[in-house]
Amino acid sequence: MIEIKNRHEIELMREAGRITAQALEAARAAARPGVTPKELDDVAAEVIARAGAEPLFLNYRPSSASTPFPAVSCISVNDAIVHGIPSSDPLQPGDLVSIDCGARLHGWSGDAAISFVVGDAPDAKDQHLIDITTEALQAGIYAARPGNKIGDIAHAIGAVARAAGYGLMEGHGGHGIGREMHEAPHVPNEGRPNRGYRLRSGLVLAIEPMLIAGGTDEYREDDDGWTLRSLDGTRAAHVEHTVAITADGPQVLTRL
Ligand code: MG
Ligand code: MG
Repeated sequence: MIEIKNRHEIELMREAGRITAQALEAARAAARPGVTPKELDDVAAEVIARAGAEPLFLNYRPSSASTPFPAVSCISVNDAIVHGIPSSDPLQPGDLVSIDCGARLHGWSGDAAISFVVGDAPDAKDQHLIDITTEALQAGIYAARPGNKIGDIAHAIGAVARAAGYGLMEGHGGHGIGREMHEAPHVPNEGRPNRGYRLRSGLVLAIEPMLIAGGTDEYREDDDGWTLRSLDGTRAAHVEHTVAITADGPQVLTRL
């Protein structure tokens, strides 16, 4: 079932979104060579706890998973695309890090992700991948308007990724979000315009392109049962916002 949120509910989601954004920014600010992803996860966990919110990812267990997720954020480094379990391996200068985090406050959820390079000298190719992934997210958000369809968001994201020659993680995309982190509808990262569910005011979506530098759409799962890596071993980026569709246009709820 697709749930439509009223104005008040969207404002509550904005609070959960702001805490999610704060957790991500605090983790990003703490990231430098020698710091471990586990330590960044602790930073995110503290921000969420101090805000009186509940982490969405900790112990999350979809039917497809054999074990519950053991951390507050997914931290995916280099060829890891999404769902990385925060490790205790110190980050190196030039590592490409994607952090995905979610929080629930007063029963409403926020879900967002950022990608960045550790240290002061990002490789130009890594920065380009992050820039295009961000551009794909912006294009998807721009298409999130009443009267458009899910396919318009999917097409907007996919067109930006493919024009740059990047891969899109097969079968993975965004989702509706509200009381639950994952609600209907699925939001593919590639598709045909003017297809699928018609967008309405009050629909809230998590839009999240995941791009793979080498151009492959294929991935593999680590033995940990969670971390998903590009099959070709090239680096990946993942950015996400929770976005409310309103008569005034798309509103990003996961902002500081
Ligand atoms: Mg997410
Ligand atoms: Mg999501």
